[in-house]
Amino acid sequence: MTQVYDHGGGVRSLQVPIPDNPLGHTLVYVVDTDRGPVLIDTGWDDPASWDALAEGLTACGTSPEEIHGVVITHHHPDHHGLSGQVREASGAWIAMHEADGAIVRRARSTRPERWLTYMSAKLAAAGAPEDHLAPLRAARPRSVPGLAPALPDREIVPGELLALPGRRLRAIWTPGHTPGHVCLHLEEAHPGRLPGHGRLFSGDHLLPEITPHIGLYEDPDDATVTDPLGDYLDSLERVGRLAPAEVLPAHQHAFTDAASRVRELLTHHEDRLTGLLTLLTEPLTPWQLAERMEWNRPWAQIPYGSRNIAVSEAEAHLRRLVKLGRAEAVAGSEPVTYMAV
Ligand SMILES: [Zn+2]
Ligand SMILES: [Zn+2]
Repeated sequence: MTQVYDHGGGVRSLQVPIPDNPLGHTLVYVVDTDRGPVLIDTGWDDPASWDALAEGLTACGTSPEEIHGVVITHHHPDHHGLSGQVREASGAWIAMHEADGAIVRRARSTRPERWLTYMSAKLAAAGAPEDHLAPLRAARPRSVPGLAPALPDREIVPGELLALPGRRLRAIWTPGHTPGHVCLHLEEAHPGRLPGHGRLFSGDHLLPEITPHIGLYEDPDDATVTDPLGDYLDSLERVGRLAPAEVLPAHQHAFTDAASRVRELLTHHEDRLTGLLTLLTEPLTPWQLAERMEWNRPWAQIPYGSRNIAVSEAEAHLRRLVKLGRAEAVAGSEPVTYMAV
């Protein structure tokens, strides 16, 4: 049976499983409105996950056919995967921030071979060794799940209330984990009278026990020089200032005292940036930096795909240090290396 939790005030959460993933599940929120239930995120695109979602909705006294709308915190497949199927069942609208909507459109139009070429070029530029690049160069393009995500039909506009009859739900733009990530602030008194301002659906932006992945915004067709870690730290301060009574995240569990969680995360990233400066006393490529950074296990034990994510995270940290004037690229290095200033 799907785990259903009643958070009070017409808000429930369903645990929708993510197959073969240590996170376990996505918390899909069901928010009652005068026009019918609205979902915040939908879960991973997999038959078992769909069954769990449908079962959970039945336990809430509704069904996929009755969903009025779908609000997406960000485009990742554990959040947006089942949106298309919900829309097919119910005719619900799907709302997403424009920056993630653009990623969805480009993912749908990018051929898999373009991704392979892009990824191997990116990794080579980051200093990845030949034995890491060889499998990418030899890979045969095939369709990858999550590359045909549903197109949204509504745009989530930062700072505005969503059109949810009978509810006050405001979009807070929180770029960092993705460029169009949003948190959703339910500007209504907490049903348990906890102190603070309403409740915050925080997606992957603010989680109780893990730090979300902050890497470069990978996009073969975008040449913008972004600073995702800088975006993330700014967004953290923004949600800290909201001072919600309770945070309803998309993984793990609900929690209170958002401000101290925000402070913990800000300190964590500040410490990490400072730690990197001590590594950058010698010139390092992003790959070499990733090898020397602290992860949840030694570099030798990090699997292939996770190394790509780790390098992207190292690059996001370098981008931030360069922007802060605390590190710079070594002139003429190829692949480019970086040093603390
Ligand atoms: Zn995510
Ligand atoms: Zn997630």
